Amino acid sequence: MNSLRGIVAVLPAFRFRLMYLRIKIVLGGSSKTDGRIMKLILLGTGGYHPNNVRHTACVMIPEIGLIFDAGSSFFRVPACVQTEDVQIVLSHAHLDHTCGLTFFLPTLLRGDVKSAQVYGDDKTLNAVREHLFSDEIFPILPDYQFVTIPESLPVGGEGLLTHISQPHPGGSLGFRVDWPGRSLAYLTDTHCDGSAVEFVREVDVLIHECNFPDGYEEFAQKTGHSTPSPVVKMAREAGVGRLILTHLDPTLEGDDPFYLSAMRDIFPQTDVATDLLELDF
Ligand SMILES: [Zn+2]
Ligand SMILES: [Zn+2]
Repeated sequence: MNSLRGIVAVLPAFRFRLMYLRIKIVLGGSSKTDGRIMKLILLGTGGYHPNNVRHTACVMIPEIGLIFDAGSSFFRVPACVQTEDVQIVLSHAHLDHTCGLTFFLPTLLRGDVKSAQVYGDDKTLNAVREHLFSDEIFPILPDYQFVTIPESLPVGGEGLLTHISQPHPGGSLGFRVDWPGRSLAYLTDTHCDGSAVEFVREVDVLIHECNFPDGYEEFAQKTGHSTPSPVVKMAREAGVGRLILTHLDPTLEGDDPFYLSAMRDIFPQTDVATDLLELDF
């Protein structure tokens, strides 16, 4: 009877995993010199609020349990978990990057994940604990370990994560991870003024926010977000391997709001993210 209950308990997770496998999209990539390919999934690629095709920010590397941000797409994390421990790194506390922390309660209660560290700067962690998990909003604090992000943080696969401060209302952090033979940068909720060029120099993959299309520069500056032209120019100048634009304004219309072919004239290895996009790198 107990084993039957156990099977029933795992069925929903198994069903989600199948659903996820059916809809996954594989974007071609190249293997690295150490011969091992790492998979990265953009679980949510929208900014501010979800729409019919995009949930808000979350990027995951399942095999090492590394997760960037916890927006509304964080509900997809339990079906992707492959490790007993996870590290969740927050760029800042805005709700489109943290609301999903509430979705992990059942996973932690069931023990599907044994430990979950949440990293961020002090004001981000305080905002999450004091406001998101206040009695009035979400009264049960999941069993997270909140840790002030150190200057360099060891992550799975012999990686080392570093961060920079970014121009955004209230501030935000941009991240870079270097592993032997590969590297990645994730910069979201930032106004791209080119100042991060050295930080992202020659990363294999740069995931960068692009909330607005060209023509909205003034609005982008005011709100601490980016338009595509400065981002693709920075990617070219930094010599990155490929650029993925994410955190799209949910009200953008049309299939090609950034005129991708024009962006590829500046930096050919540019793509626009979609939810559940997978990258091998
Ligand atoms: Zn955001
Ligand atoms: Zn923000």
